Amino acid sequence: MSTDTITTVAGAFVDGREHANAGDPLPITNPGIGEVFAEVPGGTPDDVDTAVGAAARALQEWSALAVSKRGEILGAAARHVESHLDELVPVLTREQGKTLRDSRIELTKAVDTLMHYVGLSKTLRGAHTPGLDPGVDGIVLRRPLGVVGAIVPWNFPTTLLCNKLAPALVAGNTVVAKPAGTTPLTTLRFAQLLAEGGLPAGVFNVVTGSGSVTGTALVRHPVVRKIAFTGSTPVGEQIMALAAPGMKRVTLELGGSDPMIICDDADLDAAASAASMGRFYNCGQACLAIKRVYVFDSVADEVIEQITAKAKRLKVGRGDVKGSQMGPLHTAAQRDEVAGQVQRTLDAGGTLLAGGGPPDDADLDSGFFYAPTVVADAPHDVPMATEEVFGPALPIWRVADLDEAIARANASPFGLGSSVWTRDLARARHAAERIEAGYTWINSRTKVYDELPFGGWKSSGYGKEHGIEAFDYYTETKSVVFGA
Ligand code: NAD
Repeated sequence: MSTDTITTVAGAFVDGREHANAGDPLPITNPGIGEVFAEVPGGTPDDVDTAVGAAARALQEWSALAVSKRGEILGAAARHVESHLDELVPVLTREQGKTLRDSRIELTKAVDTLMHYVGLSKTLRGAHTPGLDPGVDGIVLRRPLGVVGAIVPWNFPTTLLCNKLAPALVAGNTVVAKPAGTTPLTTLRFAQLLAEGGLPAGVFNVVTGSGSVTGTALVRHPVVRKIAFTGSTPVGEQIMALAAPGMKRVTLELGGSDPMIICDDADLDAAASAASMGRFYNCGQACLAIKRVYVFDSVADEVIEQITAKAKRLKVGRGDVKGSQMGPLHTAAQRDEVAGQVQRTLDAGGTLLAGGGPPDDADLDSGFFYAPTVVADAPHDVPMATEEVFGPALPIWRVADLDEAIARANASPFGLGSSVWTRDLARARHAAERIEAGYTWINSRTKVYDELPFGGWKSSGYGKEHGIEAFDYYTETKSVVFGA
């Protein structure tokens, strides 16, 4: 591609307008064809400082508004974004790779999440404890934290941002976001649209850049009071350490390796559909994705056959081509990592039932594609069991009973999501109580609800997003005692 077809973008949105970052240009690649189509300069520590300064200046006025007024302003701004979804959808597909349909689902969900917290802004109520002593009452005040840094990955750039932005802003904080270096464009336009829709300057700022320069500068910045991070477990651990000086608050939404347990009394058709959807959606690049299946031996052949058939039927294609059901992986490195994990699992004794390499379609050769893959009957210590597989490859194991399945499910450093398929309520309850994970779906596809708190156990994270509980992570409480 000639350089004159490469667009250059300013790289930041600060204080209500574009801001030109001073760092080295980062290439933005279309994963469907493997070509660079834009360059975005990364944010330097000075650019981060400018953005944090804008957020700090906006804080006083924003936090002083009535909570319902903040909700009203955010709601109007979100509606403005919603009216531009047709413009945003192809931008997201071009930089991320996902299908146009999935981009629309993601962006619609991002707006829904903003609106969910707009709704909660009208219902927030506090606590009052009468009679602490004769004539003495207590109340619990909530105050915003201040400037929040939001760091998000490339798999769902806008929903993962709004999970942080919505409760942070409604609670009275201001935000500086750092999108992944490879997916800044939708986020920058999203910020511009929120500003056009009436969000005051400085309340929400974006600085694009690498994790090592821009991300680190944001985490280290002394004025930032909290880092809300979604990404991999190793980076989450680094951020927790970097945030220690000054006791910055952190929420860490990290990697997962969600187990799915299919019992012998399950609706096997529905379970197989949920497994296929839960593993291959977004080309398998989701934190909450079904990454390991444990199926009772007596029904395993039927389940494995159904899941394999579904994997083989999926239409893999470029995100912007009509009819594509699964797009490419986001980068060549991501594809190669998944291919390596599958190969090492096969080398250790797994049986390949579908996929295992690029799709058989010469038109897709230049993109970062990997066919939907199913591997069965591998040993239990293979990479597909012990590591997070962030791509379209599903391992399936046979188990003797529910207790073996639960033990296998828990034999992972991760504890994000999980699902259980059975018609027996006692079995469902037994499993839900014992699986070490922040979410367990029973006979349900693995959908995340704004209404319910979400967050990982063990190496999958710290703190909660979603639900009214999210406000706990964007406020400090203070107990105030009124004497007689
Ligand atoms: P990543 O951890 O490499 O990067 C995530 C973000 O952190 C990016 O914006 C990156 O630039 C930034 N970053 C990297 N190093 C940094 C540093 N030292 N300081 C500050 N910021 C830094 O993750 P990824 O590979 O982009 O995303 C995939 C991972 O995200 C997977 O592990 C996936 O499971 C996880 N994820 C978790 C959730 C969840 O809610 N639990 C949701 C989606 C994705």
